[in-house]
Amino acid sequence: MSDEQVPAYIARCRVCGGIIMAAVDDDEVDRGALAEDVARAIRDGHSVERVTVGWVRSHADDWCRCGDDATENDTEPAQPMLLAFA
Ligand SMILES: [Zn+2]
Repeated sequence: MSDEQVPAYIARCRVCGGIIMAAVDDDEVDRGALAEDVARAIRDGHSVERVTVGWVRSHADDWCRCGDDATENDTEPAQPMLLAFA
């Protein structure tokens, strides 16, 4: 069983281009909340892209780090949103 092709949305950091938000867009998602998250990211000036869960997994090292200096050298930087893809 694989959910690699399940669609998802990501938003990119305005400074470094790293991923700052990722949301799965499957049948179980709260579509209202998802639309709200995506709309907020766009309103804040972030670049939003439609990708897949597999894409997010394969880009686990591409999350934004520029706003998180305290954990820059940590082997496990704070990535709360990424937990949904673990
Ligand atoms: Zn950044």
